[in-house]
Amino acid sequence: MQTEIIKTLNLTKTYNGVSALKNLNLTVNRHSIFGFLGPNGAGKSTTIKLLIGLIQPTAGGGKIFGYDIKNESMKIRARIGYLPQEPSFYDHLSAREVLEFTARFFFSGSKKELNKRVSEMLDLVSLLDKADRSIKGYSTGEKRRLGIAQATINYPDLLILDEPAASLDPIGRQDVLSIMSKLQNYTTIFYSTHILDDVQKVSDSVAILNRGQLIAQGPIKDILKNKEEETIFNVKVQGDISKVKRELILQKWISNVNVTQLSEKGDYQLGITVSDDEYAQKNLIRELLNLNLTICEFQRQEYELEDVFMKLVEG
Ligand code: ADP
Ligand code: MG
Repeated sequence: MQTEIIKTLNLTKTYNGVSALKNLNLTVNRHSIFGFLGPNGAGKSTTIKLLIGLIQPTAGGGKIFGYDIKNESMKIRARIGYLPQEPSFYDHLSAREVLEFTARFFFSGSKKELNKRVSEMLDLVSLLDKADRSIKGYSTGEKRRLGIAQATINYPDLLILDEPAASLDPIGRQDVLSIMSKLQNYTTIFYSTHILDDVQKVSDSVAILNRGQLIAQGPIKDILKNKEEETIFNVKVQGDISKVKRELILQKWISNVNVTQLSEKGDYQLGITVSDDEYAQKNLIRELLNLNLTICEFQRQEYELEDVFMKLVEG
């Protein structure tokens, strides 16, 4: 089984001379919940439309399940589910009717099996109790959940969701995120969003797009590690601190030491900025022990996606 579900190579789209996507190289692995993050106008929807063959690239290309996105779109579409950014439904139908209608296009089993699948999907998105009412009265969140059910009903190997949580209230967003988490056991999910918080909650991998360009990609853990040359270690110590700052700063891999007194009894918080992260992981504690300090807490400073995002987008 291949592990790379989506792979693009210099995927590029220009609309009438205006560049919307530049040389995108993206890799999405099986069973990830891949967050495609970027502000409005970054090129997220453009990328998604290119992937599923709704528009053609100006240059570059890509593969999904090993099929070419330009020439083998039909094979790709047979195995994916897609939720557009602004899904629209026939308002006079009920949720159950919409799902039955969609399912009928591909379902080869009996009517009974089809009905079972429809109910299963309605249950997954918590619409069973409203299933037979017309969609007209549905809230935005309910419509979005129905859209996810619709995209998922044919057992897709890849689910592509364009801003599934946009313009929902916090509860509506949470509902969508938890549905996505449940679906991860069955499929790979590639979804776009401009909401950082959501990415941090459900995604394992992320790509950050800004003005048509990829500015970071990888497991969230790696992106959250401060990618700058400097890392800060926060250490709580007890002991005589008088010479510590002077001694530490002599090390060429330590660039700054910030000392905060925590109590009268000799508790201190040290913020130690290092230039060599790996070296510090191995040697910083020993250095501190050599200075006769008792170490109460030792922690590498983690960064929130928000910080990293702002840095990347501004930089
Ligand atoms: P996102 O989904 O990240 O908000 P889009 O992919 O929709 O961004 O848009 C990226 C850029 O491409 C924007 O500047 C947008 O105005 C432009 N764009 C998108 N679709 C078209 C189109 N059909 N014609 C011209 N420009 C477009
Ligand atoms: Mg969009």
